[in-house]
Amino acid sequence: MPSADYSRKIPSVDSLLRSEVVKKLLQMGARREFVVSAIRVYLDSIRTNSEIAFSQQTILEHVTELVRSELLKDSTSRTSRVINATGIILHTNLGRAPLAEAAIDRVVTAASACNLEYDLNAGQRGERGLLACRLLERLTGAEGAVVVNNCAAATWLALQTLSKGRECVVSRSQLVEIGGSYRLPDIAESAGIRLREVGTTNRTYLADYEQNIGDSTGALLRIHRSNFVLSGYVHEPKIEELARLGTKYEIPVIDDLGSGCLYDLSEYSVSEPMVAESLKAGADLVLFSGDKLFGGPQCGIILGKMNHIQALKANPICRALRVCKLTLAALEATLELHLAGNAFAEIPTLQMLSASYEQLHSRCKKIIAAIHSKVMKDCVSIVDLESHAGGGTLPGATFKSAGIRFQVASPQDFANRLRMRRLPIVGRIADRDFLMDLRSVSEDDDSEIIACLNET
Ligand SMILES: *Cc1c(COP(=O)(O)O)cnc(C)c1O
Repeated sequence: MPSADYSRKIPSVDSLLRSEVVKKLLQMGARREFVVSAIRVYLDSIRTNSEIAFSQQTILEHVTELVRSELLKDSTSRTSRVINATGIILHTNLGRAPLAEAAIDRVVTAASACNLEYDLNAGQRGERGLLACRLLERLTGAEGAVVVNNCAAATWLALQTLSKGRECVVSRSQLVEIGGSYRLPDIAESAGIRLREVGTTNRTYLADYEQNIGDSTGALLRIHRSNFVLSGYVHEPKIEELARLGTKYEIPVIDDLGSGCLYDLSEYSVSEPMVAESLKAGADLVLFSGDKLFGGPQCGIILGKMNHIQALKANPICRALRVCKLTLAALEATLELHLAGNAFAEIPTLQMLSASYEQLHSRCKKIIAAIHSKVMKDCVSIVDLESHAGGGTLPGATFKSAGIRFQVASPQDFANRLRMRRLPIVGRIADRDFLMDLRSVSEDDDSEIIACLNET
């Protein structure tokens, strides 16, 4: 036991809290409870161990250090912009699709009081999301549209509304896991649907669906294999065939496209089912994510025939899945770009996807030419890379890309330094080198990379 004399010298929590040092910590944004607990823990350790020589000053130094490291943790988890130099265009950890400038502006506008559900013409209550739905219909030819939180919510809502308590017929080759805990069988189960799995892993015929249609069939479901490829001895009916079958038996067909591709991307050696084609083929409901190839905010877009869209809107759960005004604003502005024919020029995801190898190579050259430091110049070179769409889209597709290779003593330290900057740059490490792939970097950010490489 420490002597009474020793114990008496230990300052009280209150007196420490009144000190100038603590006042400063609180001004810096430290939480009072955290400071109090840091003080208590340290005073306890002094009380039980008389070996520690202390003074008010050493106690406060110790507490300050604890609090500062906690504040640093907060500041690095605060949402901040990053430069994505990983080469993965739709990087799920980095927020998937970066928004177009017009969409960002619209989000800022909507952040204030706005006409979300107010008709400025009539001066009375208006319909929420009206313009976004109208633009979606115009862009895709759909009869109606509903926007929910993400494609997982879209799938859940479509299944639950159209076939709750009934069966949904689906091919064994399409029971996908998207990642981040999305597994189709789990979604179906939680929506109260029994999945009737038909066909085999590699081959499913239209007859497999037809033979399994019965009194309890609620829907036929097709799911796009967004994140893996099945090749070799494979077969699946086309969406047209499924739609015809659905019409014959008066059973709705749901097409979960996932990535929401609006354009023919064969020029980039990519073949992806297209939204308008699926609708034209007769799918009753077509679902996709807003933040994949569509290039907009996170949301789930449901398009399709009016009777089903109305049924979705009438489902009380629809209210719980609805998106906020910021999402609607970003969606609206992104749709305007698609409709104006400016998508490949102004939507970052499509810009990045369509950038040529030559363009990326010449950007690398410009960046390297702008490096001042000889030490840095000596460790960089241009390297050919293969980038991916990412985010559960375009599985197997690679895009020939160009990037900068840094042959540094410790690529890990280099990566850390870039991540801890005011504007973090995230690249990747391969074969003991640090790589920046320019395909996923907006050209506007090249100057920031140059500035970074000229920092000492
Ligand atoms: C990505 C994807 C989903 C999930 O979409 P989120 O918007 O991430 O919820 C569902 N189905 C398919 C086919 C997908 O590709």
